[in-house]
Amino acid sequence: MRHHREVPPAAPPQPTEACPGCGAVLVRLTDVAPLHPGASASCARLFEVTLRGLREEGGADAGAATVVRLADAAYDAQHPDPADPDRLRAALEDLGVSPATVRSPGAWRTTTADVAADLDVIDLKVLVEAWARSVREDRTGVSAVRQ
Ligand SMILES: [Zn+2]
Repeated sequence: MRHHREVPPAAPPQPTEACPGCGAVLVRLTDVAPLHPGASASCARLFEVTLRGLREEGGADAGAATVVRLADAAYDAQHPDPADPDRLRAALEDLGVSPATVRSPGAWRTTTADVAADLDVIDLKVLVEAWARSVREDRTGVSAVRQ
């Protein structure tokens, strides 16, 4: 008797890539043009997809717009474009990081991939705020002062 497979054969392992900005390791996308300088296509796409709903709300909802702005700042701060230092400066300003204290972290504690992974259980606004706080701390080496 031939062995009968209960489940479809596993897909061949998909090649992954590490984002040059935040270091998130994601399945490589081959059909996508670069979406964000300093980021892998897979990372930029994940960010886009994760924020899409909130971005749409942002047109009508000032609260959502604020969260989107914070997410963009966190993303830009993790994915600097060497050709556009003003964009990084503006992002750090939005995050409340003073240029005098800014540093390049060796590793980021939170990335878009972490935000996307927790989306099922935690509200996106809460995730974005935690992510932005983590980026700020990674960029300054200073933990937020306890309230
Ligand atoms: Zn990234």
